[in-house]
Amino acid sequence: MPTGPGDVLTLIRHGQAQTRGDVREITGLSRMTVAQRLDALLDAGIIVEGDTTEATGGRRRRSLNFNTSQSRALVAAVDTTHTRIALTDLGGVLLAQDEIDAPVDGGPVEVLDQIAAAMARLLERAGLGPADLCGAALSLPGPIDPDSGRPSQPPILPGWDAYPVAEHIQAGLPGVPVLTANDADAAALGEHSRGYAQTTLMCLVKVSTGIGTGIVINGRSYTGADGGAGDIGHVQISPSSDAQCQCGRHGCLAAVASGRAVAHELTELGFPAASGRDVRELLRAGNADASRLTQQAGRRIGEVMATVVCLLNPEVVLIGGALASAPLLAGIRETLYKLSLPRATRHLTLQLGSLGEDAAIAGLTRLVVDHEFSAEAVNARLRG
Ligand SMILES: [Zn+2]
Repeated sequence: MPTGPGDVLTLIRHGQAQTRGDVREITGLSRMTVAQRLDALLDAGIIVEGDTTEATGGRRRRSLNFNTSQSRALVAAVDTTHTRIALTDLGGVLLAQDEIDAPVDGGPVEVLDQIAAAMARLLERAGLGPADLCGAALSLPGPIDPDSGRPSQPPILPGWDAYPVAEHIQAGLPGVPVLTANDADAAALGEHSRGYAQTTLMCLVKVSTGIGTGIVINGRSYTGADGGAGDIGHVQISPSSDAQCQCGRHGCLAAVASGRAVAHELTELGFPAASGRDVRELLRAGNADASRLTQQAGRRIGEVMATVVCLLNPEVVLIGGALASAPLLAGIRETLYKLSLPRATRHLTLQLGSLGEDAAIAGLTRLVVDHEFSAEAVNARLRG
């Protein structure tokens, strides 16, 4: 196995090696070489030694930890009506945050200008500049082309197709790498990094104004050949339905079961709602129609998730997004278990995500750290 300092860092970051002894055992490197690798990481401030006082054979073993305060990440989770912006340490702990109203149908230039301005304010308030950041990242409610990092024909982001989102944000953050991700992918990665680090395969279904699924395999987002993996919102489940989807077709899952669809039905019943967030407010207020319609939406989502579960056989499926609630979970549970083979659901954990809107923020930080502190990046940096 390759065993530069960056590879040793990966063992530490992934929790496989906690002490010098662990590193020696896993890599087979000599005591001297391990010391050199670790000194390089310690001198660069990339790792720190903790003071584990667990005594083994009379010797104290010091733990090795990734230094989460060596730099910071600036991230933005873009949703259809608003964007959350956060400054975090490298462990995803929030240091400062802000939220702006920025409807995505205003087009990318206007929305990204607003986000760039909010990012600059957040940095200034913290007394920091671009040089204090190791990276920035944005999540968007649409598919991202894996090669270009740009939105790829996003149905609910009119005018954003192939727009250079990262370049736009980077103009205000000179020298800072800027990454992009799909919103459900970011949320899935965030939940995985905080509570499911040992889970090999997990999915997160985000049900907000649209519907999407993030898939994490072995700690990494699986986005598919064209960035379309998990984009279940446009599976046409009711072709004869006259419910028009934002993608232009009829009867997509999103047209009948998204926050937008539920909001539309609630409006017709006399409870004005336009977005997933509006539905969430009605759910929180105990509105019985919101609860009933959200559970009904859950049943339709469970029909499609049954195929996802039978295809991937995940250990964990989490429900996130503005509609994540007991009625939605109940509806999904009802049809998903009924339509799936017992083998695929026998050990399945199906529950609400635990981070709420912080999930995407945590995932974006993780994305920045994975990118900037990959074995290759660290080996190259320490060689140079
Ligand atoms: Zn559609």
